[in-house]
Amino acid sequence: MKIRILVMLICLLSFGVADAREIKSKKAISQSDYLSTKQYYSNLISGGTPQVAELNLFANMLPKGGDIHHHYSGAIYAETYLDWVGKKNFCIYRESDVRLKVEKYRIEIKPAAELAEGAGKICISADAVIKDNSFYRELLMRWSDKDYGNHFHEQSAPDQQFFDTFGFFGPVSNAAFHEGLQSLKDRAKAENVQYIETMLEKSPDVVNPHLAKLINDLKAEATEDETEAVLNECADFMDGDAAAKAKIDDYVKSLEEIATGIDDAAFKIRFQAYVSRNNSPAKVFSGLYAAFAAAKGSNLIVGVNIVGPENGYVSMRDYSLHMQMFRFLNQRFPGVKLSLHAGELVLGMVPPEGLKNHVREAVEIAMADRIGHGVDIAHETDPHELLEVLKERKVAIEVNLTSDSFILGVKNEAHPVQIYRHHDVPFVISTDDPGVSRNNLSNEYLLFITRYKPSYEELKKVVYNSIRYSFLSESEKLDELKSLDKRFAGFEARIAKLARSKRTK
Ligand SMILES: [Zn+2]
Repeated sequence: MKIRILVMLICLLSFGVADAREIKSKKAISQSDYLSTKQYYSNLISGGTPQVAELNLFANMLPKGGDIHHHYSGAIYAETYLDWVGKKNFCIYRESDVRLKVEKYRIEIKPAAELAEGAGKICISADAVIKDNSFYRELLMRWSDKDYGNHFHEQSAPDQQFFDTFGFFGPVSNAAFHEGLQSLKDRAKAENVQYIETMLEKSPDVVNPHLAKLINDLKAEATEDETEAVLNECADFMDGDAAAKAKIDDYVKSLEEIATGIDDAAFKIRFQAYVSRNNSPAKVFSGLYAAFAAAKGSNLIVGVNIVGPENGYVSMRDYSLHMQMFRFLNQRFPGVKLSLHAGELVLGMVPPEGLKNHVREAVEIAMADRIGHGVDIAHETDPHELLEVLKERKVAIEVNLTSDSFILGVKNEAHPVQIYRHHDVPFVISTDDPGVSRNNLSNEYLLFITRYKPSYEELKKVVYNSIRYSFLSESEKLDELKSLDKRFAGFEARIAKLARSKRTK
């Protein structure tokens, strides 16, 4: 009996040793894969000209974690929108006509029978668009940034070209949300992206004429107390208004329905509720109230944002008021995360004074958790101190290289990602509007790699930031980080194999 127990003990111990050996050898393999990948990558970026083609392959395969600055309607490609125009039997104007109030490239959603005779004649089906190759090409150029800079043609200013696209495809952008999300998921999975945090639909607004007058008439010189008193009255109204409550519930329900079945073991999607910064204060406030309430009430809506051209007249005029609204609503709805577009501006776009306070107020008044773009940082008041605040508070900057280059003309060494890197401010790489920009997240990483030549450690850290600074819950983040570890182990094993095969050639 004693001998049998002894044998069993010896067996158990030897199995334990074998397990430990296996874990140790797995660790040694993964460490060696990591070192090979690091060496391989560093060879590709070293020297005067990085090996762009090889790096393209590398960036496509690279696990990229999440895309956390992402607009749904700007992420769908124009070709997909045209498909939806066809499926819905909408038509597209191929000419402008002032008398009929119609504009070339715009979508008409009214049935053909309801159109005036003249309008009906110049509005063509998606099929007819595809058959007319030159109009089809022109349409893609107006519904996105395609071919904007590679040949001479009549064109509007880049920021206008960019924002106009939303007006063109807008009428059809909500035609097939679920199908759209599915296509974004397929694209994400194909390029090794596991998470998207997207802005899908504006939160609803409810305007009460009495309160609208109160808030819209707020003077710029109103004291904080005066502003707060008005916001309080508006918030109490929203709080007690049955119509507002119903709209917020519908909004949450519709997002939950759209997202049904999208998450799986290898992919997650979450939403940010948002408002447009160029609307009246009453609209912005009621929309923000709804956005905060929705985010508080649903695990699927993980944060709140504010969008639209930041250099617009209204958005510049009301910027500080918007930040006060955020601060006020933070107190009403504690715990709601904020990612704010702030500092998407350059000198010349607005007077220099307009570049001094947007990132600062987003961080210090609105208490943003993340900042979208943050391009004007060098012009902000006391930028070194502000950079210190961003670093200490771990406010991550969402860097959108293609979008900043197109809309603002800021690129290469002039891009402030260099400032954020040098001051240890956390940042992520994101796409903004990959459909309009006609790019993807891999290409954003390729730009980051070829322009700034980060070390492999820094590159990995930036990828991990996209999960660490996401608005997922802490336990979801842990799961996604584990999945990212696994993806990197697989990636590094493949690159190590590639490096070995290259060495033997
Ligand atoms: Zn954006």
